[in-house]
Amino acid sequence: MSSHTAFVTGASRGIGRACAISLASAGHRVVLAARDLAKLESVAEEIRATGGTAFVSAMDLSSEDSIRAAFKQAASEAGPITILVNNAGITRDGLSMRMKREDWDAVLQTNLTGSFLCIQQVMPAMMKERWGRIVNISSVVGESGNPGQANYVASKAGLIGLTKSLAQELGSRNITVNAITPGFIDTDMTAVLSEEVKQRMLAGIPLKRFGKPEDVAAAVRFLASDDAGYITGSVLRVNGGMYL
Ligand code: NAP
Repeated sequence: MSSHTAFVTGASRGIGRACAISLASAGHRVVLAARDLAKLESVAEEIRATGGTAFVSAMDLSSEDSIRAAFKQAASEAGPITILVNNAGITRDGLSMRMKREDWDAVLQTNLTGSFLCIQQVMPAMMKERWGRIVNISSVVGESGNPGQANYVASKAGLIGLTKSLAQELGSRNITVNAITPGFIDTDMTAVLSEEVKQRMLAGIPLKRFGKPEDVAAAVRFLASDDAGYITGSVLRVNGGMYL
């Protein structure tokens, strides 16, 4: 398998951390990005301890300047980035009637606009290399909708539209763009849900368990590989069957 430089947003914990570890074990150099540098450093140490190559980059997706600076630093330290995993995401849940404008803006800015700006940062190098893999982490609710999450759902559905458009724009350069729609994955993001909500969700999952970050990471690793070279514009469900 060929070795590349992979940039993973939100790599300090949860799904992003698992993606970074998995890509590193596939032999790629990984750049870990998020706001909390100390947490990134500890994941990078984990990777280095197993013989992998990891770099860290403090980046806030709500700031275009911060995104630009992070990619510039990453490319100079780790070389041209040819795998991008747009994983970082936030929720600010609430019913639409009372949703604050700032909660709408924060979620769209981080999850959708931030991902687009990251893609813009890696496109030139991928075009030059005539090889690229972009994987956008959407969500099951981006396909199904979900009451109380209009901002989050709009951002995740937006990522699916972005994926399909860019797959068509970039295909001739041998750059694939795919989305993954995880179901309920055991991370900090879902830890805040009540036991009652969790049990209700579990009842609707045919595989009868919540997903692990590693379940999503395995799909990311595949879509980033040479084996997935003829897959683009697709939406891969990693949801235990909860939405089909
Ligand atoms: P998580 O545990 O809450 O981790 C989120 C990551 O994003 C952290 O590394 C966080 O680091 C980073 N992040 C948040 N805001 C950021 C910002 N402004 N700039 C840069 N980085 C930022 O989330 P997760 O559950 O692993 O979810 C990862 C992705 O999967 C998200 O896009 C989420 O929407 C999606 N997803 C999750 C589930 C699930 O059930 N867990 C289901 C479907 C989809 P810092 O706070 O240090 O910045």
